[in-house]
Amino acid sequence: MQFDNTDQFKQIISDNQTFVIVTHLNPDGDALGSSLGLAAVIQALGKQAAVITPDNAPTFYSWMPGIRKSLTYDRQTEECDKLIDSADVVVYLDFNCTKRIQALGEKIEQSKAVKMLIDHHLYPEVNVDAAFSDPTAPATCELVYNLLRATGFEEHIGKDAATNFYTGIITDTGALSYNSSKPETYLTVASLLDKGIDKTHIHDKIFNNKHFRRLQLMGFCLYRKMERINKMPITMMALSDEELRRFNYNTGDTEGFVNYPLSIKDVEVSALILERPDKIKMSFRSKGEFPVNEFSARFFGGGGHKNAAGGTFAGTLDEAVARYKINIVQFYNEWTEKNRKKK
Ligand code: 5GP
Ligand code: MN
Repeated sequence: MQFDNTDQFKQIISDNQTFVIVTHLNPDGDALGSSLGLAAVIQALGKQAAVITPDNAPTFYSWMPGIRKSLTYDRQTEECDKLIDSADVVVYLDFNCTKRIQALGEKIEQSKAVKMLIDHHLYPEVNVDAAFSDPTAPATCELVYNLLRATGFEEHIGKDAATNFYTGIITDTGALSYNSSKPETYLTVASLLDKGIDKTHIHDKIFNNKHFRRLQLMGFCLYRKMERINKMPITMMALSDEELRRFNYNTGDTEGFVNYPLSIKDVEVSALILERPDKIKMSFRSKGEFPVNEFSARFFGGGGHKNAAGGTFAGTLDEAVARYKINIVQFYNEWTEKNRKKK
């Protein structure tokens, strides 16, 4: 992490009293961890900090310290609007485009608060007063933690904040397996362990906390739904709304499914396509150099990271599947051709 404007971070935290922290739709461990962790530190400084998520956090994150005090914009709109209206500062964590937070984004854009972004997604598209964007960081939690350390707030990072930051690093790196090639991440983890966090308990809560039906859904998805496309290094899994309901689907239940096909030795690209009531949700993962974010941006109005991206499709599940099959084959062939020429 190398920012030449860390003084700006320090000043924004020091000079203000009321903070609203917002993160992305379908918040994951890094979104929640960075938000709840930063809120805990700001509160430890004697200031007010509220965390607002656009929609509900998955129930399997309900153990995260401070999560019960967070607010959900789609359910508690009035209360959230009041907080945003009176906030000195709004902090955007773990996302790079206010369109991704829908009505909450529109509300914040009208507010006069100072706006600060801390994020690790490529190509930020937000209008803010201070931006700390580092797409090479494995997790937003690492950025927040290191910004706090670099600006002298270290002593205010207690066990709860450290637990949240650690959770985000572990979930965004698959327990330090991907996106964690830099020694800095291990140094961050070491400092977090020094804060007295209970690593065994956190891992248990993250990884051994699933419902029976969720594991059955995963089995069904891998066994019945995984297909290989044109004998290429590409797979796809699609789940209909009816199938999800059959397994008592709750938000977040399919988290991680899309990674499994990449453990097949010659698979480089995996997609999970979900039929949701309002849209078709596309998730893409890759290993190696294939840029799923570029693919998603070109065909599914989305984005993300080189190896983890998402997007949406307006239409039926069958149409989404057909689109994906055509587009991925075309894009993959173009991409390999371009790379072969480069070499
Ligand atoms: P997931 O597949 O877990 O939903 O998303 C993986 C990553 O892709 C997220 O961390 C986020 O960066 C990005 N992403 C997911 N959905 C969208 C989307 O609709 N638009 C954009 N721009 N990025 C997305
Ligand atoms: Mn993240």
